Amino acid sequence: MSDYRIETKCIQSGYTPENGEPRVLPIYQSTTWKYGSTEAMGRLFDLEDSGYFYTRLANPTNDAVAAKIADLEGGVAAILTSSGQAACFYSIFNICTAGDHFVCSSSVYGGTFNLFGVTMKKLGIEVTFVDPDSTEEELQNAVRPNTKAFFGETIANPALVVLDIEKWAKVAHKNNVPLIIDNTFATPVNCRPFEWGADIVVHSTTKYMDGHATSVGGVVIDSGNFDWEKAGKFPGLTTPDASYHGITYTEKFGKAAYITKMTAQVMRDLGSIPSPHNAFLLNLGLETLPLRMERHCSNAQKIAEYLSSNDKISWVKYCGLPGDKYHELGQKYLPNGSCGVISFGVKGGREAAVKFMDNLKLAAIVTHVADARTSVLHPASHTHRQLTDEELLAAGVTPDLIRFSVGIENVDDIIADIQQALDA
Ligand SMILES: *Cc1c(COP(=O)(O)O)cnc(C)c1O
Repeated sequence: MSDYRIETKCIQSGYTPENGEPRVLPIYQSTTWKYGSTEAMGRLFDLEDSGYFYTRLANPTNDAVAAKIADLEGGVAAILTSSGQAACFYSIFNICTAGDHFVCSSSVYGGTFNLFGVTMKKLGIEVTFVDPDSTEEELQNAVRPNTKAFFGETIANPALVVLDIEKWAKVAHKNNVPLIIDNTFATPVNCRPFEWGADIVVHSTTKYMDGHATSVGGVVIDSGNFDWEKAGKFPGLTTPDASYHGITYTEKFGKAAYITKMTAQVMRDLGSIPSPHNAFLLNLGLETLPLRMERHCSNAQKIAEYLSSNDKISWVKYCGLPGDKYHELGQKYLPNGSCGVISFGVKGGREAAVKFMDNLKLAAIVTHVADARTSVLHPASHTHRQLTDEELLAAGVTPDLIRFSVGIENVDDIIADIQQALDA
């Protein structure tokens, strides 16, 4: 499918029925597959033959959706996970063990920040968080002899920082380690990080990809471009795996080594698979992703412009605005639009923000972002509720900050809702 444009791939990739087979991707809601001989199944366990035997290791519905996403990102292989958190964890854990280290942008999703900084530390894997706007020299200074990866988000949730992917890839590659990019907010419709030098991409598919807030999920995609053998730092991929009959992943699977190891080892042992039914729902979301992203972005652009000219609003962050700190990087990496998430401050601080939120009628107060329905969150009252105003500022969250996730409703109705809440 690689010659088609992304709108076509979103519909057509991953599943091509044969004569007489269902037109729509079927849900294989089965944990297991039947075989005629002991020998036939034994060969599957040895990775000698490919075939389905247990859904924790592979399932046709999940595989078809993973193949579609691999195609959308321009990668060689992908694996679905039960959540975005699992995808982020697997992407690092597949190549880092106790005693290893990686470098991560400090502007990442809160769940990722905690996973990397607290939970992975308990496993003996250390992270250094660096300013996403670091110079090459500053990035280089964070590297240690045991550094195994760089990690960042295309558009950071919720800071809306646009990452200079090319710069990060350059420094990562100079140190013979891969760059892993969380592309959740941009989606492959608006940015394909492999085209800028990233090696691995992860997503929380829970957000725009699903798009309807029905299923928590994640995905890890490999570009196939990173040379694990030449890098000489990844024995887990380049030396025999005793837990899998002495297979050497790079030798046996070439460009698919990273994802095969993740399936055969990490997923086999940790088991964070999505249900085939959730994969089916994700696939429905993917089919309309380009249409929805276009609307999310055009709505968000109009709302960002409306907010920046409103005298009750103290500031607006959205890289589509010419004055935004990340406008230039946005033009480079996200020329067709960024995402539907805007953050802004209401004059009058925390109290005014709470009053504004409580007066919204259409925009719903939810912890979710990036789905079809306009939603809104006040971090100072919700996700960061326990912090004092001083602590909030240290975390980069001002007391007046509102995270506004623009949906695909008619933009005039959303603006009218904002207007009446500001007037109230
Ligand atoms: C939501 C989110 C995650 C975590 O994903 P879940 O599906 O909620 O586990 C990771 N990264 C980013 C950028 C996110 O927005």
